Amino acid sequence: GRYFFGPIDDLVNINDLLQRAEASGRRIFQVLDASETVQERPGARALPTPVRGEIVFEDVTFGYDPARPVLRGLTLRVAAGERVALLGASGAGKSTLIGLLTRTYDPQGGRVTLDGLDVRDLTLASLRRAAAVMQQDTFLFHDTVLENVRYARPEASAQEVQAALEVAGAAEFVAALPQGLETMVGERGVRLSGGQRQRLAIARVLLAQPAALLLDEPTSAVDAESEALIVAALSRLMRGRTALIVTHRLSLARVADRVAVLEGGRIVEEGPPDVLRARGGRYAALEQAATLEAADD
Ligand code: ATP
Repeated sequence: GRYFFGPIDDLVNINDLLQRAEASGRRIFQVLDASETVQERPGARALPTPVRGEIVFEDVTFGYDPARPVLRGLTLRVAAGERVALLGASGAGKSTLIGLLTRTYDPQGGRVTLDGLDVRDLTLASLRRAAAVMQQDTFLFHDTVLENVRYARPEASAQEVQAALEVAGAAEFVAALPQGLETMVGERGVRLSGGQRQRLAIARVLLAQPAALLLDEPTSAVDAESEALIVAALSRLMRGRTALIVTHRLSLARVADRVAVLEGGRIVEEGPPDVLRARGGRYAALEQAATLEAADD
């Protein structure tokens, strides 16, 4: 499923969002629906700032159908500022972990904490502002590049947007668009490639400045050529932030401090990529399989 994130911290922003959604068609409503399966607890509190970004999945059990758990007593700690790549077979439950952290779903057992606080006790706005999700494809509103990039922080200046585009490796292609920053994109706008959309998404997240990043296959919709650009931009984006990276691309897993392998509803192997490679276990096998897959592309 898709996740929605952003500083929906008051009704003004929600109205703003709905107006933009109206302008851009129905897709956004599916996004909002998905995030409404879970309700904010009465008395929920805002995550205290500054957010450090420490993420802990503590003995988490979860199944979309509770009778068929996807995660079975899973424990995973991501220290503040640490980048952890999550690997595992298709359907292992990697994206599900992201949904539990951002509260698209709640676990049936155990808990998920951000800076030591159970995410169920936090306001959804403060949680989703602190932990931003980037997915394989990015939603662009039918609006200008400028507004698309700063919609998470509408008060950002054009200079700030420009600086974010540069860090994201998007400045050059944006400058080459018919009206530069003022070019209309999204549905009925100028068509952008997967890699270009992803670089706009990176600029958008840079402006939002979340403490934690949740990357869900952020390079899978881009070709090999833009992959290198995206990986470089993502590693700039991740600097100084906590990151949980769901990927089967090893180019991205290798930028992580640590790799965790998910299998049978638990983490079965954990450690720095080099150490795991030498160990010859699950990670080493996945690395070999991915190398073969890449050779087939
Ligand atoms: P992939 O690498 O293919 O993206 P993944 O490891 O991210 O897989 P998840 O997407 O977390 O796996 O899915 C874990 C399991 O839960 C799968 O069996 C999947 O079919 C199931 N699942 C995922 N989303 C839902 C949903 N919304 N409703 C019911 N089942 C779901």
